[in-house]
Amino acid sequence: MELKNYIRTIDDFPKEGISYKDITPLLLDPTAISFAVSEIIKGLEGQPIDKVVGIESRGFLLGMLIAKALDVGFVPIRKPGKLPAKTISQSYDLEYGSDTIEIHEDAIQKGEQILLHDDLLATGGTAAAACRLIETLGGEIAQVNFIIELDFLQGRELLPKDKVKSLIHF
Ligand code: AMP
Repeated sequence: MELKNYIRTIDDFPKEGISYKDITPLLLDPTAISFAVSEIIKGLEGQPIDKVVGIESRGFLLGMLIAKALDVGFVPIRKPGKLPAKTISQSYDLEYGSDTIEIHEDAIQKGEQILLHDDLLATGGTAAAACRLIETLGGEIAQVNFIIELDFLQGRELLPKDKVKSLIHF
């Protein structure tokens, strides 16, 4: 199955110069979703995963399905002020300015093996900040996976490279 056929590119969204990769056609197709989830978890046999962490908001969509397929719990990483209990925060640089993400401080226990998921890897700033949150809580990054990776932005340079897995490359 060619997953690239289920990704729609919208030029100049949300602003000029951005070539937006839209995963909503993939979400419309149950067979494509099942295929994507099975490709992501392929090769994880023998590698114990304790939890899946997904990044707001599109990282929640397949993240929860990956957690269910692995029969483990799911942990959301969210934008500031969205999580109700006690959180820790991590800020990271954007092209202009900075952004912050948060995680519940009791969501991960020391030594747990974590699979981090987001829909798309661009510059890597978001996923690198998510890795720092996980590691601050004592979690260990077992795999960082994405549906889509924009190779030309070299985002994986900011991540534990040998643990990065992406299904589709542009
Ligand atoms: P980055 O921190 O630069 O790796 O950006 C990753 C985050 O921004 C992900 O959560 C993506 O959903 C979103 N994102 C960045 N670039 C794009 C793009 N071209 N199309 C769709 N989403 C994007």
